[in-house]
Amino acid sequence: MTVRVGVFGAGGRMGSTVCRAVAADPELDLVGAIDPYHSGLDLRHATGVDSDVHIDPDPSALLGVDVEVVVDFTTLEACRANLAWAAEQGVHAVVGTTGFTGEDYDRVRRSFTRSNCVIAPNFAIGAVLMMRFAELAAPWFESAEIIELHHDQKADAPSGTAVLTAQRMAAASAEWGDDPTSKEVLVGARGATGAGGIAVHSVRLRGLVAHQEVLLGTTGQSLTVRHDSYDRSSFMPGVLLSIKQVAHRPGLTIGLDTLLGL
Ligand code: NAP
Repeated sequence: MTVRVGVFGAGGRMGSTVCRAVAADPELDLVGAIDPYHSGLDLRHATGVDSDVHIDPDPSALLGVDVEVVVDFTTLEACRANLAWAAEQGVHAVVGTTGFTGEDYDRVRRSFTRSNCVIAPNFAIGAVLMMRFAELAAPWFESAEIIELHHDQKADAPSGTAVLTAQRMAAASAEWGDDPTSKEVLVGARGATGAGGIAVHSVRLRGLVAHQEVLLGTTGQSLTVRHDSYDRSSFMPGVLLSIKQVAHRPGLTIGLDTLLGL
């Protein structure tokens, strides 16, 4: 039995990569593609997927094809509406769109009563492990700094992953040394201040994709945990895993940690 999958944002950078990954997986069946701005296009033209599926403008088209799981990589506003639709229809959802607030999570928790939802701010399994390793190491070091490096089209800084990494490290240890800097020669030289006072530095560089280094230091030694995403395919194993697992994860699951058994 294959899982019947629909993709929101099918014409976008992530959505089209998801369409290709789903179409290539023998356990999954790509049955629908939604994207109002690419509607009418053949999926073959928009994504290169060898399929007769057409891109439709709104989710009602998914009802006729018995979709079981929808994947959303769109915009925050669009995703909120798509999730309301999925919850109402009792369709499972896997979400990569970023920017959710605590209120969004509460709303999703309340609304997904007949189906389940997995929301992961980062689907790269290596990035999930990087955060976990940094969290495990945190109690054994007194100083830590995070350097996140991204492509030159990224609008927000620092990345959500860097913010979350600092939050998780701060929750794992309260024992961080003070910043020794008494004179900042160039404003911002010490980066932004994340949770627990952990400095977060953002690099934006043409040619990069998504990278992060967590540096931890204590007397006489340091530890560096680094993860690199070289292209969007790095997110696909996490997305495919979530599509296959979401039916077995009641309610809302945030992040891949529990799906990976971390
Ligand atoms: P993108 O290329 O702009 O793709 C978004 C697509 O969604 C566009 O084709 C957009 O159309 C379409 N769209 C807008 N409203 C829609 C609606 N109501 N229904 C269906 N489709 C709609 O952006 P991207 O780079 O793929 O990123 C998408 C999201 O994924 C962002 O929030 C990004 O931060 C997130 N992301 C998450 C991860 C992760 O691991 N969780 C990794 C990478 C990116 P138009 O372009 O015509 O507006």
